[in-house]
Amino acid sequence: MAFTLPPLPYDVAALEPYLTKENIELHYLKHHNAYVVNLNKLLEGKPEANKTLEEIILSSDGGVFNNAAQIWNHTFYWNSMKPKGGGEPSGALAAAITKDFGSLAKFKEEFTAAASTQFGSGWAWLVVDGGKLKVTKTSNADLPLKYKQTPLLTIDVWEHAYYPSFKNLRPKYIETFLASLANWDFAAENLSKAK
Ligand code: MN
Repeated sequence: MAFTLPPLPYDVAALEPYLTKENIELHYLKHHNAYVVNLNKLLEGKPEANKTLEEIILSSDGGVFNNAAQIWNHTFYWNSMKPKGGGEPSGALAAAITKDFGSLAKFKEEFTAAASTQFGSGWAWLVVDGGKLKVTKTSNADLPLKYKQTPLLTIDVWEHAYYPSFKNLRPKYIETFLASLANWDFAAENLSKAK
């Protein structure tokens, strides 16, 4: 069965004025969709086409891995944001952040540093690794699933993610993501399912 582009969890204009409608249309309808189209082309007529996306990610490399992982990463990224997001986490997630980072401010510092220093294209993540919350960064299509980590939240720092709204100002994009877009409900839900 061919893979399809997962629905965006909100309208293309829902993250304005931070990420513009044009930005989301380009990123979702062009970039995210292209990974779906490319993966289907690469797997056409092959037995792997019947595997789940996660199975493909864990058993492939090269173009198949890059496109499969980028489909997964982008779906996770769209859910990592919401209109009227940002603010502060609550409940078990807030407690875990305080326990493992010292404070929410310290977490934000680490996440900002990871997202800012990822050289070139990639992602910064809040993950659970061995029962502990950590901040990580990955290059290109690489992702926590490969390292047995459970991702809770991600920011896409490929230039295509923020240039239409923020031009070259990656630090401003990261600051805006944490202040106004981050979906802490999604992160909390992922934490509740983590081992
Ligand atoms: Mn992207």
